[in-house]
Amino acid sequence: MKNVLKGILGLVAALTAILLFNAYNLDGVRPLGSPAKLMNINIQKAVDRLSGGVNIPTISQMNSAKIDYTQFLDFNRYLRREFPKVFNTLESYTINKHSLILKWSGAQPLKKPILLMAHMDVVPIDEQSLDQWTFPPFSGTADEEIIWGRGTMDDKGSLFAIMESVDQLIANGHQPAQTIYIAFGHDEEIGGNEGAKKSAEYFRKNGIDFDFILDEGGGITSGKSFGIEKAVAFVAVSEKGYMTLELVAKGTGGHSSMPGKETTIGILANAITKLQENPLPARLGGATKHMFKAIGAEMKLLPRIIMGNQWLFEGLIERIFSSSPAGSAVIRTTTAPTIISGGIKDNVIPAQAMAMVNFRIIPGDTPESIVDMVREIVDDPRVEIKHPEGQFGRKPAPVSDPTSDQFKFLSRNIYDVFPSAVVVPGISPGGTDTKHFLDLSPNIYRFSGIGRTDDSDLKRVHGIDERIGIKAYEKGIQFYIHLIESLGQNQKL
Ligand SMILES: [Zn+2]
Repeated sequence: MKNVLKGILGLVAALTAILLFNAYNLDGVRPLGSPAKLMNINIQKAVDRLSGGVNIPTISQMNSAKIDYTQFLDFNRYLRREFPKVFNTLESYTINKHSLILKWSGAQPLKKPILLMAHMDVVPIDEQSLDQWTFPPFSGTADEEIIWGRGTMDDKGSLFAIMESVDQLIANGHQPAQTIYIAFGHDEEIGGNEGAKKSAEYFRKNGIDFDFILDEGGGITSGKSFGIEKAVAFVAVSEKGYMTLELVAKGTGGHSSMPGKETTIGILANAITKLQENPLPARLGGATKHMFKAIGAEMKLLPRIIMGNQWLFEGLIERIFSSSPAGSAVIRTTTAPTIISGGIKDNVIPAQAMAMVNFRIIPGDTPESIVDMVREIVDDPRVEIKHPEGQFGRKPAPVSDPTSDQFKFLSRNIYDVFPSAVVVPGISPGGTDTKHFLDLSPNIYRFSGIGRTDDSDLKRVHGIDERIGIKAYEKGIQFYIHLIESLGQNQKL
């Protein structure tokens, strides 16, 4: 008996040791040394230039016949007028009339260039919400602390921060070590097929690929949403794929006075209910695994043990993350019924009912594997499951390795400008223009160096009262300056 007890105690001790070892073996990104000193800039001038850029309504519309391209011509002219030094020093190429590529030749031409990206277009304003804006959305009003207007966060803030950083560095006589390309698309909000896609073709045709690519997405967030106290610098190293499926229930229509047991609407509703009750499986690998490691390293003992021992606590982690929409989106392909239609008259049973279901695909799933899973879940031959015409879905982006030198370089730069934030790699739920560049670099990062004023800012992207803080904008500019200055220096964490 004594020996059995001893054995059990030994096992418990061994298990505890393994759990603790794994918990403390989590590798967060912890830079060494003190953060770098940042360059002083003329922020008032920068604010004025961004305000002027917000003032030009470069609105993307799903119906391309409605797009006012004169605004894009205006915007391009505005950039040339406001940043003469940049256009005199860098080579510039207009792509498909409105998108822009700039090239700043580096001192070490044998090194692979880097690519900085942003987009010029913005989403339309919902007319119903116009009176809820504090200032007219395209006024670009700046008060003491805030620059207001459509596009400040998404994505003219980053676009102008890149321009300001290059302008400032040229004024200081700086030449980058590596060649820097800059690509500004003009239709990111409607898929990037006319802008970013054409720019990517230009690079491909000229045999140019990149050491790393930095585009919008991610950013500095308050740590609360990740279960840690510190601010998080979220760098998306992948982005989810996208697919919509059409579900069509067919049956015999007829008079509503003598319905059969089930109508087409009932059959369709049943299929949708099954999809909602059976979320697609969680996948804790890839970018998500790296995210858990980085945030786990910052957690208190108990959650740290859980995050460090996914082999044992996978089910628990899954349950915790599944309990919120944002958490669920990080670990699985999400299922969202978005359109439903059927029927034309209250006393007629329709012969057909249709629904659209949108999926955001996590690495590990593919458009094909999701179609199979949806068929299995719906399990009803009366419901046809198909791709909407011409839309076959987009795979998730490959995961850029967060242990690469390029990721460490970016992390070091983030630490220098935002020393209190923890760098966390992860997956972006939304898409960016980088989807057209996936073959042009293995290291694609989606991160914005313009921090939020508070948590309400997330809702303002594509919403009402979009804004950025002037202090945050200044830091955003300093972030790009520091990043460009650091190229070629073998920075270590
Ligand atoms: Zn954007």
